[in-house]
Amino acid sequence: MRTSIPAIFAVGDCAQTVMLARVADMEAHVAARTITAMENGTDLPAMDYTTVPAVLFTYPQLGMVGKTEETLKQENIPYWKSHDTDLSWPTYRRIGMKHAAYKILVDENNCILGAHFLGDNTTGLLNTFKQAMIDKTPVTKIRENNIMAPYPSRESDILYMLDPLID
Ligand SMILES: Cc1cc2nc3c(=O)[nH]c(=O)nc-3n(C[C@H](O)[C@H](O)[C@H](O)COP(=O)(O)OP(=O)(O)OC[C@H]3O[C@@H](n4cnc5c(N)ncnc54)[C@H](O)[C@@H]3O)c2cc1C
Repeated sequence: MRTSIPAIFAVGDCAQTVMLARVADMEAHVAARTITAMENGTDLPAMDYTTVPAVLFTYPQLGMVGKTEETLKQENIPYWKSHDTDLSWPTYRRIGMKHAAYKILVDENNCILGAHFLGDNTTGLLNTFKQAMIDKTPVTKIRENNIMAPYPSRESDILYMLDPLID
């Protein structure tokens, strides 16, 4: 975000980064903290774009955070996967919803590399997995944190999504 003039930072759509509303807000936040840190001589913060979620606000919503399988293959990063389509969990059966899918990708430490969802609460699920990526929370802990998610919410399905990744 630093421009050719050291004391001037570009944030939001005029920076050549990810053009989304809350990314603009976060860039402004990090730029302000950076300016303060420069004045105080403390460690400079940095933007992390690896956990920016992307959502198509269609119905059902399609969204993702982190990497795709294709990118992981291209970058030779080993990964493990849990995924399913046409979900038949009780939470979907009770409303007759057929068009739902998920894919969770994890690394050798069982931390989230990518999470992809098609459904009617993609944004809620993405928030959980975005935070897990930021905090580097392993899947066993994400599962434990979601045991008491209100049932039958989409978040209550996280247990079913993560079980195939847990021995
Ligand atoms: C159609 C559309 C849909 C979008 N949907 C989404 C979405 O669903 N979710 C999402 O996260 N992002 C969405 N975006 C992207 C998001 O709107 C931008 O990334 C975000 O608004 C960038 O914030 P910003 O502050 O950099 O710029 P802006 O929000 O564009 O703010 C710039 C401001 O500067 C003002 N301005 C311009 N020139 C001057 C001047 N010379 N003097 C004074 N003021 C000036 C403008 O009037 C404007 O108010 C969408 C964008 C578009 C175009």
